[in-house]
Amino acid sequence: MTYFADILLPLPLERNYTYAIPADLLDQMEVGMRVAVPFGKRKLYTGLVLKCHQEKPEAYEPKEIYRVLDQEPLVSEIQLRHWIWIASYYMCTLGEVFRTAVPSVFLLQSETRVKAGVPPKSDGELPDDAFLILEALGHQDVLSVEEISQIVDRKNVLPLLHGMVGKGWVIQEEKLVERFKPKAERFTRLATQYQEESALEEAMEALSRAPKQGALVLQLFQLQQGKEKPVKTKDLLKASGASRPSLNALIDKGILEEYLLETSRLDTDDASGGGTLPVLTEEQQRALGEIQTGLAAGKPTLLHGITSSGKTEIYIHLISQQLEAGKQTLYLVPEISLTEQLVRRLEAVFGEQVAVFHSRLNLQERAELWRRIASHSERARLIVGARSALFLPFAKLGLLVIDEEHENTFKQFDPAPRYHARDAAIVLAGYHKAQVLLGSATPAVESYHNAKTGKYALVEMKRRYGNVLPPEMELVDLGMYQRKKRMDGRFSERLKLAIEEQLNEGRQIILFQNRRGFAPIVECLSCGHSPQCPNCDVSLTFHQYRKELRCHYCGHHRNLEPDCEACGNVTLDTKGFGTEQVEEEVARIFPDAAVRRMDLDTTRGKYGFQRVIQDFEAREIDILVGTQMLTKGLDFRNVGLVGIMNADTLLNFPHFRAHERCFQLLTQVAGRAGRTRDRGLVLIQTFNPNHRILQQVSANDYLGMFADQLYERQQFEYPPALRLIKITFRHKEFNRVVEGSNWFNQALRQRFTRGVLGPEFPPIARIRNQYIRNILIKLPPNQGLAQTKNSIKRIERSFNAISQFRSIRVIYNVDYI
Ligand code: ADP
Ligand code: ZN
Repeated sequence: MTYFADILLPLPLERNYTYAIPADLLDQMEVGMRVAVPFGKRKLYTGLVLKCHQEKPEAYEPKEIYRVLDQEPLVSEIQLRHWIWIASYYMCTLGEVFRTAVPSVFLLQSETRVKAGVPPKSDGELPDDAFLILEALGHQDVLSVEEISQIVDRKNVLPLLHGMVGKGWVIQEEKLVERFKPKAERFTRLATQYQEESALEEAMEALSRAPKQGALVLQLFQLQQGKEKPVKTKDLLKASGASRPSLNALIDKGILEEYLLETSRLDTDDASGGGTLPVLTEEQQRALGEIQTGLAAGKPTLLHGITSSGKTEIYIHLISQQLEAGKQTLYLVPEISLTEQLVRRLEAVFGEQVAVFHSRLNLQERAELWRRIASHSERARLIVGARSALFLPFAKLGLLVIDEEHENTFKQFDPAPRYHARDAAIVLAGYHKAQVLLGSATPAVESYHNAKTGKYALVEMKRRYGNVLPPEMELVDLGMYQRKKRMDGRFSERLKLAIEEQLNEGRQIILFQNRRGFAPIVECLSCGHSPQCPNCDVSLTFHQYRKELRCHYCGHHRNLEPDCEACGNVTLDTKGFGTEQVEEEVARIFPDAAVRRMDLDTTRGKYGFQRVIQDFEAREIDILVGTQMLTKGLDFRNVGLVGIMNADTLLNFPHFRAHERCFQLLTQVAGRAGRTRDRGLVLIQTFNPNHRILQQVSANDYLGMFADQLYERQQFEYPPALRLIKITFRHKEFNRVVEGSNWFNQALRQRFTRGVLGPEFPPIARIRNQYIRNILIKLPPNQGLAQTKNSIKRIERSFNAISQFRSIRVIYNVDYI
């Protein structure tokens, strides 16, 4: 009886391939284990066993599995189930999920190389091809598959090689060998012969002429604490203040010896732990109780608590309960490089149980963390990470916390799978029977809607910890200051004086300048007006190459006139004003203040953010100028003033979410002011002080914003009223993209009577020499999602059957945000 296995390859393939299982591998194989398999012409890949069965594929002759790479499954059944859900929901291939989910160190692939093995006794046994290969190996140590193909003049040499490997004539040298090596560190101890007291006394005696060395030995005793505690060489040198040569001398004399011990790269030295849980305030206690009720009812629970209300402290209480029950918690954050403060807080309470899935981990460290989480190690019970931490192999997941759940970084944009971590987390929690807590001061409109309609449980906290009042918000009318000539660069007199006052009182200041991505938006320097689309509630986008204003939701477009349609002045401007200019102006206006910039340009490098955050905490910076990064949950104690340089660019962002995001960003950045003791001040400079959304921000009126947005989304048909699927077409030839997307569009419109928008060029219509065109599909709630996707997929198959379209990349973004 022959057995077969369906193997998942880390490639964007529409289906899985079936391989034959060699008899000797049969009892080693289990679902979720990795295997080495040949695929394509010369490549060897790491695949994952999905299923073992006895059905021989009809369409092709199955190749054989080369080797089993695991002794235990690397991927659990729950993980596989979750991957399958992600692939199907987000319309990508399972191979793409596999590639994203598993650390690349587990996914080695290679061209096989062979070396000479033990040759057969007589040449008579040898087929001609094998003879040629062995002969070549007499001249050359290793041969690649490609070289072998040339030697025997045949494309598919893998079966031949496999046979030769089986007979031991050649040895396969694979790069597939696991490269994971535990890290070893140097330790120092007393040599065995000096463990005895008398011998040691003698040695110390002898060392009396070398006091530094003597001190070093004494220091070693102290660090050993009488017990047999291993002492790291580096700690010994540090504690004794001795030099490496002194230590070497002792080693040469045979008194001390150095040895290697495996340590983990993941363990920080200062994970103290053992801290006590914060005592909750009455309001926090009530919120905790309500959350527990919601979670116990099996519902994802949304904690809507204003900034600095103590959401983190509540998470800590819930996490502690999970840990006590022996379960794991996943704590998702929007931006892992900004979580140093948070991790410090968590480690103070939970010590070693905290593991951070950080972008700074190297491949080996990722692999090690993977294993720890899978084996339910005590040193990885609370896992903090950005969205991709969702793919870790949780053994016993009890709770998922999604902090700042409104952040759009939870949605993966590129490459596939284009998943939303919040939504995928809720599905994962279902498989684990785990609880989900979402937290935010400014929940996403969808989430609050879900809470209002009972899909989520809702818990509110309206007071700041310590009864500090929420910051006082003031809208500063830039138009008025401009008319009265009371501007200094981009600083109104109001903001300038407020900064001076704060500096005099020794408080710190945050200045926020949004320099968001592209946004080639036209804005009038006199009146702040920017042209709007007549059909949609978005600003028109300026397209440089045609000097044209376009709406990329409905396709409306017109020429850009030189004068502003609102005030008639010829002061339309497309240039952005970035953080750099703010920094320059600050230096000019406040020459004595220490100013620093925090944006992607200044915080490159592994520890970039950390340094700025620490310097700011240490009050080495008076004025911090930054972008969105400043909004992400940072907890500073001495900020008296937050200044928003210009809120209008947020209002004019051409997106159905522009207002929601504007509210979230401004509320979050404002929340950095006055977090402890005194009430903070927030000054928002704008040309539109009467704009409804800014009024709502300054009144702290989340509910008002939510009601408005929900109404608009229902009117204009955007989420949560319906779902969006964006289809992107990419190709290097302009015409082909146009024709392909037009064809697809026709086919969609035949299938769906409404809800197909486009095709449209995005504002940046060419990236890396690829032209891009989008179609947006609006899916009403009563239209079946699975059915719709099937229809789209069917259209794609016909599309791919047309030869001139086959090379066009078709990309799906389900729940486009
Ligand atoms: P949020 O996450 O809601 O913005 P935090 O949890 O960061 O709020 O709390 C804001 C500040 O107040 C933090 O410095 C935190 O340590 C402090 N704080 C909140 N609740 C308590 C509490 N119960 N006991 C002690 N300090 C608290
Ligand atoms: Zn429009």
